[in-house]
Amino acid sequence: MKIFHTVNGLRDDLIQDRLQGLKIGFVPTMGNLHDGHLALLHQANQTNDIVVCSIFVNALQFGLNEDWDKYPRTYESDCEKLRAAGCDYLFHPDDVEMYPNGLDTQSRVICPTMTDVLCGASRPGHFEGVTTVVSKLFNIVQPDEAIFGIKDYQQLAVIRRMAEDLCMPIQITSAPIHREADGLAMSSRNRYITEDERPQATVLKESLDWIASQIRSGNRAFSELEAEATVQIERAGFAVDYVTCSNSKTLDLAADDDSEITVLGAMFTESARLIDNVSISEE
Ligand code: AMP
Repeated sequence: MKIFHTVNGLRDDLIQDRLQGLKIGFVPTMGNLHDGHLALLHQANQTNDIVVCSIFVNALQFGLNEDWDKYPRTYESDCEKLRAAGCDYLFHPDDVEMYPNGLDTQSRVICPTMTDVLCGASRPGHFEGVTTVVSKLFNIVQPDEAIFGIKDYQQLAVIRRMAEDLCMPIQITSAPIHREADGLAMSSRNRYITEDERPQATVLKESLDWIASQIRSGNRAFSELEAEATVQIERAGFAVDYVTCSNSKTLDLAADDDSEITVLGAMFTESARLIDNVSISEE
């Protein structure tokens, strides 16, 4: 695996690959890699000749009181995992390489829809940071395909919309949610969960699954279902950020006649904020 810390270094190699007609797949990450990330890498390997992974903890998508400074940075072990997963190029820029003019004057990419609900409501500016950095990374790597996890459902929807709106010639592919044996969605932030909290942390997934089963059996009292799931999560000892039944495409609140619904949730443990989702589609 070749490692690049500069935009120009990575570009020099990618230009050659492109000239040879090789197909380039891209997996952007913030590092601290787990099996969920590696599944994206494997997926990228199946359909591309060259797989590029980026590791960059993007300050622009973190709020002032969020965990940017303490976000786990595990570069050496990440490199080992990427090599084993068959990654060809790792792009690992520092903040100055990505934002040479500083954050304040950085040009931004704004997706005006779907970004101020759900995670966007509790993390103002988060998705602007995401769309901006992903656009930059797309311009640097110019991949044929980019793979994103369904675990971050709203992020995937926003990126799809951005790529469509801005005519980016990139296939955006989704990858299923990778889970621990007990159902907890894998996340770099799971390491913030305390030992005492860990057995109950599956309640987020369980309560979303419960709503999904109710909807599948014909119950469309969305607000009541959300309220009951909130009680389930609070009873397990966690604070709820949101539990929402949404239209899978628009992320608007689910309507009675929606045939594709995604139930999304976010909850706070003592020092982590965890998200999960489950989708239901009528055949
Ligand atoms: P992150 O490093 O958290 O920014 O995530 C990088 C990519 O990995 C994003 O596309 C995430 O959606 C994806 N990802 C993170 N956790 C999981 C998971 N448990 N299953 C599948 N994809 C994931």
